[in-house]
Amino acid sequence: MSRPLLKVENLTKHYPTAAGFLEKAAPVVRAVEDVSFSVEAGETLCIVGESGCGKSTIARLLMRLIDPTSGRVLIDGTDIAGLKKHELRAWRRRMQMVFQDPFSSLNPRLTAGQIITEPVENFERLSRKQRQALAADLLGKVGMSPELMNRLPSEMSGGQRQRLGIARALALQPAVIIADEAVSALDVSVQAQILNLLMDLQQQLGIAFIFISHDLSVVEHIGHRVAVMYLGRIVELSSCEALFAKPVHPYTEALIAAAPVPDPARVRVQAPLEGEVPSPIDPPRGCAFHPRCPLAVERCRLDVPPLVPLADGRLVACHVRAPAEGRPDHLGSVPESSLAVG
Ligand code: SF4
Repeated sequence: MSRPLLKVENLTKHYPTAAGFLEKAAPVVRAVEDVSFSVEAGETLCIVGESGCGKSTIARLLMRLIDPTSGRVLIDGTDIAGLKKHELRAWRRRMQMVFQDPFSSLNPRLTAGQIITEPVENFERLSRKQRQALAADLLGKVGMSPELMNRLPSEMSGGQRQRLGIARALALQPAVIIADEAVSALDVSVQAQILNLLMDLQQQLGIAFIFISHDLSVVEHIGHRVAVMYLGRIVELSSCEALFAKPVHPYTEALIAAAPVPDPARVRVQAPLEGEVPSPIDPPRGCAFHPRCPLAVERCRLDVPPLVPLADGRLVACHVRAPAEGRPDHLGSVPESSLAVG
């Protein structure tokens, strides 16, 4: 069996908070808790969930912009979570990031050509001719004319700036691109263009994407697999098709039910998501979703449900829908009447 390009094992990030006057130990913010997944070359794994669920913290951990509390991030079998700063430099080439706000992520004083070639020039010297050829090639890859090479970001539209951000991410020929809410600041028509561009680039170059989004319609369009997160943990990890056709975790079901449906012929089952996401400083005991879950039973208030594989290959963490006992045919044991069908 081939080794996955990126493998995340038991990744955890806790942030200490300031201790109170009489408190012995400072409470911690449990931003990411025991998260594991893998991504193959040419695959798009989407990470979804409400704000504060830990999805952007995962992006920062994968890029090693912050250090994990525990866990491993393996690229081609090497754990980058354990590397020293100088060792990390070479591995940074393998993973690049595309940000939500292209304007604030691009240096306003540099031209498009300089922005694109800057990452390469951090590693090697380029002649003027090489620089121009590289900029023209990358602008072409993202569907922009080389004539835009001398423009400043302020002289471009939102869509052009996001294409420029993607060209910059491509400059180091990364194996993985992490896109954090990469289209959420764009108009719907421009969103579609950028999503199609990303899918074309993936087909041409075999890049793996980790696509972080709160927008389920975008995820349904671009994803191969989806990890649904709630309060720092993955609660369902599934193929995109299976997840949208038949969500199993009650939280996934509620998220899909709450998402707007662009096609009036499709009817969503009503399972409104009530209440707020609890604080990650003091998450509920047991299953963190239990205060909002219509299916909660006594055990949900006591034990954290493990991620359990179902018969169709997806992983679900739920005592009721995916009980750890009685495997391997859990999906068959889930009452059909209790599952939402999109
Ligand atoms: Fe709901 Fe219990 Fe399942 Fe958590 S474990 S999602 S509370 S039924």
